[in-house]
Amino acid sequence: MSDELRTSFAVDRRTFLKAASLATVAATAGGLEALAEPSSRYTRIHVPAGAHPAMRSAAEILAGKIGLKYDAIAEYRGSAAHHRGGIVLALKETRGVPASLSGPILRDGYAAMAEDGGLMVCGARPRSLLFAAGEPHHWIDRGIDSKAGVWARNPDFTLRLSGWHPRYKAAELAAMLGANTFTAPLRASISLREQMPEVYAKLSADERQRLDAGVEEAMTRNAAMVKEFHDADLTVFSELPYGNNFSRWSPALYEAFLAVYPSAKGVPEEHSWEKAALCPSDPATWKLLDAYIGEWARQSQADGIAATFWDQYGMFCHDPRCKANGLDQFKNELYESISHYYAVMKPMGKQLHLRTWSSGCPHWLGDQYVHAPGYGQFSESHYELWSRVATETPGEILMQTKVYHSDCEPDPPFSTMLGKCKPHIEIVEYQDVGQTIGRQYFPASVVNYMAWTMKKALGLVGHEGGAEIGAGGTMQTNYDVYADILNGCKAYAWRELSWDVNADLDKLWADWAGQIYAPQAAPHMAKAMQLSEDAVYKTFSPLGFGSATNSDFAGDIARRETLLRYTNRNYLPEYTKFLEPTTENIDLVVAEKQKALADIDAMFEALEAAKPYLTAAERQEIETRFDWLREFAICNVTLDMSLWRFRYLRAQAAMLTTDPAQLKPLAEAWDTVAKHAPLLFRYDPAQKFTCYDVPLGQLRRKPDLGTPLPLMHEIYARSLAFMEESVGPDYLPQEYIRTTVSINVPTEMQHPSRLKND
Ligand SMILES: [Zn+2]
Repeated sequence: MSDELRTSFAVDRRTFLKAASLATVAATAGGLEALAEPSSRYTRIHVPAGAHPAMRSAAEILAGKIGLKYDAIAEYRGSAAHHRGGIVLALKETRGVPASLSGPILRDGYAAMAEDGGLMVCGARPRSLLFAAGEPHHWIDRGIDSKAGVWARNPDFTLRLSGWHPRYKAAELAAMLGANTFTAPLRASISLREQMPEVYAKLSADERQRLDAGVEEAMTRNAAMVKEFHDADLTVFSELPYGNNFSRWSPALYEAFLAVYPSAKGVPEEHSWEKAALCPSDPATWKLLDAYIGEWARQSQADGIAATFWDQYGMFCHDPRCKANGLDQFKNELYESISHYYAVMKPMGKQLHLRTWSSGCPHWLGDQYVHAPGYGQFSESHYELWSRVATETPGEILMQTKVYHSDCEPDPPFSTMLGKCKPHIEIVEYQDVGQTIGRQYFPASVVNYMAWTMKKALGLVGHEGGAEIGAGGTMQTNYDVYADILNGCKAYAWRELSWDVNADLDKLWADWAGQIYAPQAAPHMAKAMQLSEDAVYKTFSPLGFGSATNSDFAGDIARRETLLRYTNRNYLPEYTKFLEPTTENIDLVVAEKQKALADIDAMFEALEAAKPYLTAAERQEIETRFDWLREFAICNVTLDMSLWRFRYLRAQAAMLTTDPAQLKPLAEAWDTVAKHAPLLFRYDPAQKFTCYDVPLGQLRRKPDLGTPLPLMHEIYARSLAFMEESVGPDYLPQEYIRTTVSINVPTEMQHPSRLKND
């Protein structure tokens, strides 16, 4: 194992990498001698002499997982042959590998065969052995007798993609995730000195110096990162700056460019959220973009470039030229942009990867109109938006589409575009960042959703297609999703399902929990996490109509109602009946919210059963995070039930009548929120979770999803006003009157338009 790899292992973490981290604990505690007995019957690992570095890394990761010292790794020359008590790693083309072992291997899979008291593991290519090393629980006990035969493990998706992670080496990520393609922050420092000297001349002397000086540093850093991925036999893409708004990509170059080519400045549509930094009808625009992207590709040294378009869109130009030639339309702008990206990269031998996501459904945000093209309803369909790219650009461009027919979770309908973009290779994207289900603070599974959608996606994109996971924690600091003893289940499930969409979910849960928890605790923890999926869906998304993209409490009614548009999962006509302001719909919301709280109670019951077998640290962390979910849920569901009452009273008032019976539940809601708001996110600052690298008190961003009080008070006060309008003050029962004391509303919440959408 390289020193770097050793260092990266030396982190206290408990995950589905548990076995590896045990080796680490032993190593950091003063030597591998401290290790317990090896956890398998095999005592040696054999790799071919002069093997690809990925094979060597595979042997080292495997040794860690099965409790062997690194000196248990031996090299062999010549033919691969079974060794009693040993695991022999080989490739399809290695001499001595029997055809019965190499034959069943497809794509970049692997196969294992037991014979003569030894085991031979054969990979399609070097990285295949990293995938094997990450999951020995699947193959190591396939029987030490030859009777067990050959066990082949072939991935269902040819491409499995994920992202770089600061705490894990490329080889480790591949072993953990079974992924073969990664995006990484391979950044460039671009001055355009060579490509557009006339623009360069307009940069300030400081900018010129800064950008030119940054090139060597970027190139050196990128070369090392790319080598790390290639040493693990992996493909790596560089991410272009987010979106396609050049004024954000490089403000200095943008300004210098416009000083030379003022006609290239785009003309935005009035009130448009989508911007027009550059005009796609002006030839100088493409001169600039071609130069910038070519230089980015050169400096990044990656195998390709990954591009996004929303939600920093900068090509929505409405000058007379664009209006005349159709480049004021999203689908033509996308086609034009992507054709240019491709034309630059093709001769450089680089691949192009697109994320085709858009953002919610159309709505006003303050005084700006968010077009949100691509999700139907009042905008064009997802396929329409991308139709020119799909049909008129070369098939080798990778098209990655979110599985969600909406921005993100929870429990959204299935994408309408997947399967429609052939001959392009299509990739189904999962965004495992806890965005609308509590930012990973809370226990929140999405495994059932992943299971049915992954199967459906494979049917549509085929084995040649891909599956992607963007794993992490939205708006979190110090967080490591792979070390999360609760929500790590999602990355684990993604790995299992991207290899086998028909994986047995009961076994998947048992394997996941069994690698983290004591055997007596594991089934109960698996059950608690399984229950969390419905619990968080119902907590966050009343009747599927969505809530804040980053899970926080809306500050006021206007913001909450904007969110009902923006994150609305069910914006199809057949669902509007659930938004009608009726007592029946209030009852539906109340029943759903009571079910959410009942689901959370059941999670606590499972936790109680697990508790005697959890370590003290596990118990503290899990109890804290379960409590966070329960208290948040109590406040959030109370707000949603009250919001539906408010909407009903508002509709009644429009008909010059009211319903005083709503006062009692609204007063009780007020009391509930007043009681539980102070109980949100209770923790001991000295406490440390496995998923954070510092104690809770030292997190750069404290666990917090805002306050429910301003919204509760506004809902109550305005509901009361509607009732008084008809009833007057005398006929409302005084015991349900609450005083709307002046509330300390955070400034940003007083102005919903200032809140960014996501
Ligand atoms: Zn234009």
